[in-house]
Parts: sequence; structure tokens; C-alpha cells
Amino acid sequence: MAKIYHHIVFLTGAGFSAESGLATFRGNGGLWNGCKIEDIASHAALDDNRDNLLDFYNRLRREMAGANPNTAHIALTELQKSYPGEVSIITQNLDTLHERAQSGDIFHIHGQINQVRCQDCDTVWETWEDIAADTPCPACGRTGVVRPNIVLFNEPVFCERQIKQLLRNADLFIAAGTSGEIPPASVFVQEAKLNGAETVALNLTPPQNYRYFDTVILGKISQTLPAFTAKLRTLASEKR
Ligand SMILES: [Zn+2]
Repeated sequence: MAKIYHHIVFLTGAGFSAESGLATFRGNGGLWNGCKIEDIASHAALDDNRDNLLDFYNRLRREMAGANPNTAHIALTELQKSYPGEVSIITQNLDTLHERAQSGDIFHIHGQINQVRCQDCDTVWETWEDIAADTPCPACGRTGVVRPNIVLFNEPVFCERQIKQLLRNADLFIAAGTSGEIPPASVFVQEAKLNGAETVALNLTPPQNYRYFDTVILGKISQTLPAFTAKLRTLASEKR
């Protein structure tokens, strides 16, 4: 490892929030009301089964509203505050635990659970309340057009331009609590590596695309991440 990095990029995933008590819900044949998650949380469901889609995200919003950041979220915030280089966070998580831990420079590529959007006028606003088909848009007043501001299956991710820039500049890329199964996050490590970054995975199990990682550290993220950020800080302080 280098003594100091100028642009550190973390990619965080479900494993980060799992230790705050939030169950993972994407993929792996997850079910809701007997339907596959891929069918409920799809773009087509906005037309075909909006009530079920809204119910699903209402439940998720309630669950996430009650969750608290864990030691891994807090360790990232401390790193951002004390590290001499830039530290950015790309997250696949819909919860706002990085924000609650007072982290900054966060990019939610799949959106965030407390934001909703009007499909008609594109206004985005924040709420922790349930939304229903007859919830009106506060800007244009229309009903039947309000949806979670979340990337549904078959929709492009958010912040693509900023992510490309981050991966171009990164000299250290860390995938933390993510198995690397879901594109495009699964290819972020390849991009970072091609651009010359050192790559590290912190995960409970070996990531699927482990061959792209220079270092793989297995274990609970609440333990491996604080240890890793402490090491980064120690190396940086030796440099000065
Ligand atoms: Zn509107």
C-alpha cells in the first residue's frame, strides 16, 4: 500500500447496511407478496402494478427510517474528516445511513429511499411518509404520477458522469460490503483498475469478480472497515 492516496473511492453495498439491521432485497430470488422483486421493482410495474410497487417501497422506507449507522459508516466519516486526500463514497444502498453518519461526497447510484419524483414535471422532493397512487405532486398537483426516485430494474443508474470522473481519478478503490454481482457496480472495479488504481475488497465472502482486486479482506464490515481506515490514517501520518 502507498503511504498516501490523493483520490480514494469507496463503493458501498448491502453488506454495509446489513449490520444496521437492514435486510438485502435485490436479486437472489427475493419475494414480496409472492412476486419476484425484479417484477415489482421494474419500470413496467409503474404502469402495470403501481400499487404493489408503492407498497413495496413504503415498507422499505419505514424500515430504513428506523435504522442507525454502524461503526463502518462512522469510520468512513472519520476518514473523510481526517485524511489528507479526497475520500468519495459511491453507494448502491437506498438508505441514508452514510448521511446520518455525517459523511459527505456521497453518490447514490440507485437513488435514495426518502426521495420521490413526479413523472410528469420531474420535480424531486424528500419525504419519509408513505406515498400512494393519489398522492399529489407538490409542484404540478397531478396525481397518479408520483414514484420513488429510485432506479428500477431496467433503468439507468444515477450520477453516471460523476462516477466516470471518480473512477478516472481514483488511486485507491475499495468495494466494501458488496458482492460485485450487479452491473454497473460490478464493472467499477475494472474501470478503476484499468485507470491505475489499487483495488481492495472488504466483504463477508469473496466477491464474484475477485480477480480484479489486488487485496481481498474477508470479515464483517463493522470490523474490517474501521481497521482498514485506521491503517490508511496511520500510513498517511507516517508520511508527514
Ligand atoms: Zn409534478
